Amino acid sequence: MPIPQSIQRHGFRKWYERELLAGHSHLVLVLLCGLAAAGAIEAFWSASGDGRVLMVASVLATVAIGNWALRRYLYLLMRAEFIADQAVCSACETYGRWTVESQAPADESAGRTAQMQVCCRKCQARWTINC
Ligand SMILES: [Zn+2]
Repeated sequence: MPIPQSIQRHGFRKWYERELLAGHSHLVLVLLCGLAAAGAIEAFWSASGDGRVLMVASVLATVAIGNWALRRYLYLLMRAEFIADQAVCSACETYGRWTVESQAPADESAGRTAQMQVCCRKCQARWTINC
């Protein structure tokens, strides 16, 4: 689901919480991949023949999955922080209490990211948030 629709449905704070949870679940996957790789390396020394080939394949698979999970973790956290940095009302300095009024999808030919026009729930100030 695109970010503006997700924030419209759940609210900014809930969306932010979900992004952090999703990001950190990927970090847990990175740690599990590290443990699996260490176990496969340990088992490599006691295996022979096809067992060693299987352990090498296991290490390669855990490294690939761990790399993907680490990249996804960093992406989700950076995206959440990028939007959270814009979530403060400049008029009343309230954090995260706004609603999405309108949205503009990304226009890659013009080099523009998706944008949301938001309205502060406390003072009704309006500003644009880039996604
Ligand atoms: Zn405000």
